[in-house]
Amino acid sequence: MSPKQGQEPVAGTLYLVGTPIGHLGDLSPRAKALLSTVDVIACEDTRHSGQLLSSLNAHGKRLSFHQHNTRTRLPQLLALLAEDQSLAVISDAGLPGISDPGEELAAAARSAGHPVICVPGPCAATTALVSSGLPSGRFCFEGFLPAKGRDRNTRLKSIAQEARTSVLYEGPHRLLQLLEELEALCGGDRAIQVARELTKRHEQQIGPDIATAIQHFKAHRPQGEFTVVLGGAPPAPSEAPSQQELLSLLKARLNAGSSARDAARDVAQETGLSKRELYGLLHQQGSD
Ligand code: SAM
Repeated sequence: MSPKQGQEPVAGTLYLVGTPIGHLGDLSPRAKALLSTVDVIACEDTRHSGQLLSSLNAHGKRLSFHQHNTRTRLPQLLALLAEDQSLAVISDAGLPGISDPGEELAAAARSAGHPVICVPGPCAATTALVSSGLPSGRFCFEGFLPAKGRDRNTRLKSIAQEARTSVLYEGPHRLLQLLEELEALCGGDRAIQVARELTKRHEQQIGPDIATAIQHFKAHRPQGEFTVVLGGAPPAPSEAPSQQELLSLLKARLNAGSSARDAARDVAQETGLSKRELYGLLHQQGSD
């Protein structure tokens, strides 16, 4: 049993609480217990979260907290923490702070010296990433791209060149445009998995490459929620060694006692160049 069980919520603490991204069964027992006992709940949308909170018999005071009232709300929420009230923040779905309100509040609460605790829950980015089958050891989260203009192009170019797997959020109305922009920069054969309606009844993964995903969404108008997982850029082909570098490799072998023929063979194996060409290079050097 966790040492924290039975002790939460702690006075004057900010809790970032993960809520489901579709499947209501994904609300953790800890999140349920915390939301039903915390003093104040800051919700991205009080009406949207109302049903969930009522089903938990959550009696805490509900306050709206979203991108349009962040500036006025932040000092009020910090004041509540300073009065030793326990405060939970939830977004419409998923983990607050990931493309959702929460990031600025967590930073402000930390700066003011209040404890900040995450009660983890589903996040579309990591859910899509791990089910994509694409490398997840190192990845980049890009969230929503700027809607248009130079900022969008700059981000797209850097994503196209990124060697790690990238994860992006996109709305249904702009999904096809995003896929076509990625195709222009990455080529149609770049690996991709487009996760649709994760954790919901009609969950789908569309891939395995950009061209196939475009074909699919041209035939099936994008509807629902999407998270795009793009495979990393393949490594750039290594530059061919210069003549000087080849001669150094050959001479190192001659100095170590190899014959010219063996030196050419070994360096050919190392560089993928032809043995004849390397032997010729040595010969030409010898006659210069
Ligand atoms: N904080 C949330 C999280 O932790 O996943 C993300 C919030 S962001 C405002 C909403 C975006 O997340 C959607 O537009 C979509 O790109 C992605 N998303 C959310 N739920 C999803 C789902 N069930 N399936 C696929 N993508 C989803």
